[in-house]
Amino acid sequence: MKAWYTGDPVYDTILAGALALIPLTVAGLFFMETPYGRFGGKGKGLHVSPRLGWFLMELPAPLTFLFFYFRGGHPYAPISLAFLGLWCLHYAYRTFTFPALMRVAPGYRSTFSFFVVASGWLVTPMHGYLSASFVSGLGRHLDASWFTDARFLAGLFVYLVGFGIILHSDSVLRQLRPKDPSKAAGLPRYQTPRGGLFRFVTNAQFLGELTAWTGFALATWSLPGVFILGISAANLIPRALANHRWYRSAFPDYPRERKVLIPFVF
Ligand code: NDP
Repeated sequence: MKAWYTGDPVYDTILAGALALIPLTVAGLFFMETPYGRFGGKGKGLHVSPRLGWFLMELPAPLTFLFFYFRGGHPYAPISLAFLGLWCLHYAYRTFTFPALMRVAPGYRSTFSFFVVASGWLVTPMHGYLSASFVSGLGRHLDASWFTDARFLAGLFVYLVGFGIILHSDSVLRQLRPKDPSKAAGLPRYQTPRGGLFRFVTNAQFLGELTAWTGFALATWSLPGVFILGISAANLIPRALANHRWYRSAFPDYPRERKVLIPFVF
């Protein structure tokens, strides 16, 4: 890329605003735990079920992506279609399959603060718009030759590894509860996850998420890619630390060697 900007003034302004949101998110989450899951359902305000919360929060990402993708300059170019496919894969899972498969603990059906949904709505439409417009038109380096560029190939590989880690780790967490809710009565709400990358870190699902967005940033070689990686890291690193502290205090036998997020390092 010759310059950080694309030359489209609306796009570049929204991109600059999106990037500025990263340090603001870091500062905001320094002072509070995001109220969903184990840290949700406590304060005042509207709360919804985790299933509905996840679905509503993520929905603007695929909708805005599809809307702006087909308004781009070359939506039917093979390289653009490759990124469209990657997005459909990611958001078919995150928006629809993940909430649908979620096993909600009996008695904890209103733990997802609507504040989290509304905060997510600041990010998910921007993410959809910025990525779609870039891959279907504004990304000048994205032509047929990009298919053989080492950044695309390495990025795609890293993305797929990350996506595989997400699928596996979310599934490990899901299987800590019985599929049939009537069999969950009397069981503890939480257990220690085991297997896969949970052997090494408390937050294997976040490791997968950050790996996937690193791959996307590399494969697109773009600032919209940097944006989603940066905003995800700003969200997930404080949450990973809070989860780690929570597991250690909730389970006296929690494996001491398990790191927070990066095996053997952190
Ligand atoms: P949740 O905390 O909502 O957990 C997902 C499900 O697993 C919930 O049903 C939760 O139950 C259950 N669960 C979690 N831990 C346990 C446990 N120890 N025992 C039994 N059940 C458990 O969502 P996550 O924070 O895990 O995030 C979900 C996905 O979204 C991840 O893949 C993550 O990477 C991604 N994500 C991405 C973000 C981004 O900025 N890109 C931001 C946040 C998440 P309960 O609801 O009762 O806690």
